[in-house]
Amino acid sequence: MKFNDALENIKTYEAGKPIELVVREYGIDKDSIVKLASNENPFGCSPKVKEAVRAIVDNMALYPDDSMVKLKTALAEKYAIQSNELIIGAGSDQVIEFAIHAKVHSGSKVLMNSVTFAMYEIYAKQVGAQIIRTASREHNMEEFYALYQEHKPSIVFLCTPNNPTGDGLLASEMIDFIAKVDSDTLVIVDGAYMEYARFKNPSYAVEPKDLVSKFSNVLFLGTFSKAYGLGGMRVGYGIAQASIIEALYKVRPPFNITTLSLEAASVALDDEGFVQTCIADNFSQMARYEEFAHAKGITVIESYTNFVTLSLPEEKNSTKIAQDLLKKGMIVRDLSSYGLNAIRVTIGTSIQNDRFFELTDPLL
Ligand code: PMP
Repeated sequence: MKFNDALENIKTYEAGKPIELVVREYGIDKDSIVKLASNENPFGCSPKVKEAVRAIVDNMALYPDDSMVKLKTALAEKYAIQSNELIIGAGSDQVIEFAIHAKVHSGSKVLMNSVTFAMYEIYAKQVGAQIIRTASREHNMEEFYALYQEHKPSIVFLCTPNNPTGDGLLASEMIDFIAKVDSDTLVIVDGAYMEYARFKNPSYAVEPKDLVSKFSNVLFLGTFSKAYGLGGMRVGYGIAQASIIEALYKVRPPFNITTLSLEAASVALDDEGFVQTCIADNFSQMARYEEFAHAKGITVIESYTNFVTLSLPEEKNSTKIAQDLLKKGMIVRDLSSYGLNAIRVTIGTSIQNDRFFELTDPLL
């Protein structure tokens, strides 16, 4: 069958390998598998969230509240913004999709970092856009500006901290860049890991309110999948001036967030203490990865997230190392598809991290 031509040059997104597949392929006992591949919170979500979801589990017959008033009110309060400056997606992934479909058409250009979150390219190519990438591995705002001037893209993606490398961009550099961009270019600031950056060094974090109050062409993205421990619930959000949100609403399907997910995300915002404790633990465990890498003579990219990217020496092949670990029940992310000889490892609990060091030690 012939499909849309645009699909021909799209590579299907490769998600972190699910535990269920490792059980089937390698016959490993489910309980002994450790998944450090998708940057989830190893402690899960606040106990208050579980309690709240259990309490509404009988409410599944009716469609969800499509106004999402409870979650929108809670988010608007958290960020000191208005409800009409918010849109909720089934993961921030879906908000990226809305933005591309609302703004980009065949022949438009979309500018992004050389190495960055793969879905920007996939959604942009679906609508026939041309992808422009910088050359540097880290976000270099001078290079972004030069390419912006040359190509006048419809959308610029800034992923900070960046996935899959973990590095951060100074908020001041980002803001200087945005200030120079024409108001018809949509700048998407993907803050999926912003809670971690804010904890580690606030100079690398941006407040959505500061962006939205200053700029009419910025969309900030946040998610409940990382620090809030709700990857399985699929809730993310976009924050922008109301005129952008109105356009995104035109491409949103109705009832895109389930009743249980709306409740989970709303209640998760009530327990910031839980989230901050998890983030503090993340960085104390991250220090162990830095020490491990240092002892092995491996470079670690300074990370503002809940994962570390270990750049391997030439003689060690990242695909082989990831595969060898998989056979032992340890799931990490091989970054060879991003052109890097590196593995990305989500920071786990101290027991999970012990296991990573134990299994990786003989391989490196
Ligand atoms: N942006 C970045 C940078 C990510 O790493 C991810 C998830 N890996 C997403 C967006 C999408 O996250 P979600 O759809 O779970 O909110």
